Amino acid sequence: MERVVNLCKRRGFIFPSAEIYGGFRSTYDYGPLGVNMLRNVKDAWWRSMVQMRDDVVGIDAAVLSPGQIWEASGHLATFTDPLVDCRSCHERWRADKIAGTCPNCGSSDLTEPRAFHLMFKTYAGPVEEESALAYLRPETAQGMFVNFLNVVQTARKKPPFGIAQVGKSFRNEITPQNFVFRTREFEQMELEYFVPPGEAEKWFEYWTAERMGWYLDLGIPADRLRLRDHEPDELSHYSTATADVEFLFPWGWDELEGIANRTDFDLRAHAEHSGEKLEYFDQGTGERYVPHVIEPSAGATRTMMAFLIASYSEDEVSGERRVLLRLDPRLSPYQVAVLPLSKNEALEPLCREVLDLVRPLCMCDYDVTQSIGRRYRRQDEIGTPWCVTVDFDSLNDRSVTVRDRDTTAQVRVPISDLTTEITHRLRG
Ligand code: ATP
Repeated sequence: MERVVNLCKRRGFIFPSAEIYGGFRSTYDYGPLGVNMLRNVKDAWWRSMVQMRDDVVGIDAAVLSPGQIWEASGHLATFTDPLVDCRSCHERWRADKIAGTCPNCGSSDLTEPRAFHLMFKTYAGPVEEESALAYLRPETAQGMFVNFLNVVQTARKKPPFGIAQVGKSFRNEITPQNFVFRTREFEQMELEYFVPPGEAEKWFEYWTAERMGWYLDLGIPADRLRLRDHEPDELSHYSTATADVEFLFPWGWDELEGIANRTDFDLRAHAEHSGEKLEYFDQGTGERYVPHVIEPSAGATRTMMAFLIASYSEDEVSGERRVLLRLDPRLSPYQVAVLPLSKNEALEPLCREVLDLVRPLCMCDYDVTQSIGRRYRRQDEIGTPWCVTVDFDSLNDRSVTVRDRDTTAQVRVPISDLTTEITHRLRG
């Protein structure tokens, strides 16, 4: 864990936020490599959930939202965590995450738990009064429910169909912890899948299998991934069944994603509070019903961290220790690094030519400083799957060397075949 966190800071994946001011409580900024990788995680999700399907469409709803939404959803009344104080060292903890003793000092002299509300409040407009109260969304899901009619009418979808969204959510967590695992500002990738009431169980099974497959396909090893059904007393106020996709983190099994059967709770609640009829009318059968909802809800930032941890490895190449991220090329910050064998200026024009060829296909890095061996190590460490090296022979034979990160195997490829070669490798 410590090695991954250090690598993130040292190589520009993730920085503590506002660091020059001493940092700002458990918030993080994504650096040049992190922003590429996080984008790739979200793109991989969008590709599988929206692009490759004809029954899901996307939206991008506002983060800032009025109290009515959270009144109807039940969040204003129930979105709390149980907070306890340690009477000995005065640290504060989430009662359900500690086993009756203070993780800081070991004392079991804790206060009774009290409900702590997790939503961030602000004021919309110039006057700080009750009627101007607004909230930062604690989940993206409500954006899909309040836009249900807009989407049904404009996208002309018929259940079973889904609305997907990727975006920021905010929770005033009592104890943010474990790097970006639990932060107060984070990104979610959520699907609300609307189905005829009698089909909810079937689709719940379908989505749990589908989502497990997504993580495996992108390289999470099967022995570090599991599905865990919630016990009845763990279920959220809106859910009849929930299964968590869990990853084996360095501190043990923990949640990456929750897949919930939300029933018709949300549509009914918003219909009641807004006075709008949130139903589906099937013109074919003349049937009118409130769809039930299956929700796979994943954290993008948390998932990126799991991919980093799962891919971190150390091995030995030619007697030298090396650190590498065995990331799936679809997730790597750069897919290709173009490297001149040496800093000699004669190689630069050909490097530029190679970059111009490969850049339209994927993200490329160009690195000229230090020895070629050191530069290979630097690329291994950030998970770049292929290095393309331009050497002095390249000037005559117009070929380059393509080196593979995991095997370190090198093959010579004519520049005229390079885009075909890289395209082929990108397709896996
Ligand atoms: P917990 O009980 O651990 O606080 P939760 O079960 O309430 O979390 P959900 O509401 O199901 O979490 O959120 C869906 C997903 O959003 C989670 O599986 C996680 O990946 C992500 N997520 C939730 N809270 C955070 C957070 N504070 N930081 C980062 N990711 C989060």
